Amino acid sequence: MEEARHFIGNQWVATASHETIPVIDPSDGQVFAQLGRGNAADIDRAVQAARRAYEGPWGQASAADRGRVLYRLSMIIAAHQDELAHLEARDTGKPLKQAHTDAAGIARYFEFYAGAADKLHGETLPYQNGFTVLTIREPHGVTGHVVPWNYPLQIFGRSVGAALAAGNACVVKPAEDACLSILRIAELAAEAGLPEGALNIVTGYGYEAGAALARHPGIDHISFTGSPATGAAVVKMAADNHVPVTLELGGKSPQIVFADADFDAALPVLVSAIVQNAGQTCSAGSRVLIERSAYEPLLERLSEAFSALKVGPSKLDLDCGPLISAKQQQRVWDFLSDAQHDGIAMAAHGEVIAEAPEAGFYQAPTLLRDVPPAHRLAREEVFGPVLCAMPFDDEADALKLANGTDFGLVAGIWTRDGGRQMRIARKVRSGQVFINNYGAGGGVELPFGGVKHSGHGREKGFEALYGFTVLKTIAIKHG
Ligand code: NAD
Repeated sequence: MEEARHFIGNQWVATASHETIPVIDPSDGQVFAQLGRGNAADIDRAVQAARRAYEGPWGQASAADRGRVLYRLSMIIAAHQDELAHLEARDTGKPLKQAHTDAAGIARYFEFYAGAADKLHGETLPYQNGFTVLTIREPHGVTGHVVPWNYPLQIFGRSVGAALAAGNACVVKPAEDACLSILRIAELAAEAGLPEGALNIVTGYGYEAGAALARHPGIDHISFTGSPATGAAVVKMAADNHVPVTLELGGKSPQIVFADADFDAALPVLVSAIVQNAGQTCSAGSRVLIERSAYEPLLERLSEAFSALKVGPSKLDLDCGPLISAKQQQRVWDFLSDAQHDGIAMAAHGEVIAEAPEAGFYQAPTLLRDVPPAHRLAREEVFGPVLCAMPFDDEADALKLANGTDFGLVAGIWTRDGGRQMRIARKVRSGQVFINNYGAGGGVELPFGGVKHSGHGREKGFEALYGFTVLKTIAIKHG
């Protein structure tokens, strides 16, 4: 792969500015590659290439042919899983086994959407006598995708896979902190037979290339994943062109554990839901709400598990890798120093291994107990391996705590009581609810998205295809 270039029209092209952005390995803090610093001129070039593809070969391809190209891409990605996993692990710092899961995940996204491409259809609607009314689902045209650094492969796959299957041509602005795997996928997509311009990648800073994409009048839909503040800024920019935006903005997701739960089953899931990807997961289970009678015994078991966690470089494949950047590390430190200042007790923490390079961005997984519900640690997204434990008294109290943040992305419910499972599931405000499990292994098939400040619109599953299409109603009067 050539460095410091964008991928536009199935070619590597020089950045308009000829400026670069250093790529840092979070495991050792060292620069190991350069990205192109894209600007409005690069975005414009990519949007024009996408428009030509949409009005040309890609827009005119049959749904079945689109599916065939995406299926070939899924096969090619699967064949390159090892290479992609190594690239992703180095770029993001995540342990190699997690990166393998992500690389297998993106192959699965393209496989799923390849199969869905020719199963997307409208309806016929009952209307007055003498009419036949039907709906058809049409692509938006050129879609913009702003992708974050935490799961470059997976988030790219879920958004671009669905957009391409629905017949759109895409312009992607991946995150400046980690996007090498996405550039490689673009090359593989050309190899799979995706026509020129159907998929274009412009690297660069959010405030520069990202903002240029959000403002571009040639974009017909934007899919954004990242922070609530940037999401709101993107919506405002897109509003000038009346462009619809899908937002996936993270969460402060509760895991609600009742005293009758199967603790043996719950324990490893409660730990992995916050430690996976060093807690830098929008759907991380970052709050554990425990029924008071079980609070101390479960905290003891959680503390034991946290104390055993090991943190180190991605290649050592331990429980947890480094955070993405010095900025993210400082953010987590700020939260933890607030906890200390406000007297919030640390129940346990893991260990950064001695071999971890000094210049890497490491943070030991940390379990905090009795976090006051009004404290920022209980309400704001830390985006690090920090789990906040809180006791509750009854179902009403559990729901009040669970719904007591601005977010609403995912909730976990742990209980053997079937009635309670459904009472809580119906009343908790979140886009996904998992009962006696959490995350359901990624679940490509399962619609995903939030309520409140977690965003709006749905990605994943068949539902995502509706978001990447517009419905046209055709009424025929035939007497
Ligand atoms: P961010 O929202 O600033 O960045 C996400 C993406 O948006 C990146 O590609 C970035 O380049 C782009 N971007 C930034 N400013 C932009 C702008 N003005 N216009 C258009 N695009 C822009 O997030 P961050 O600074 O990388 O991380 C900050 C916090 O965001 C994290 O601590 C975490 O809480 C949250 N976050 C959430 C997710 C998620 O999956 N929901 C992912 C990453 C970060």
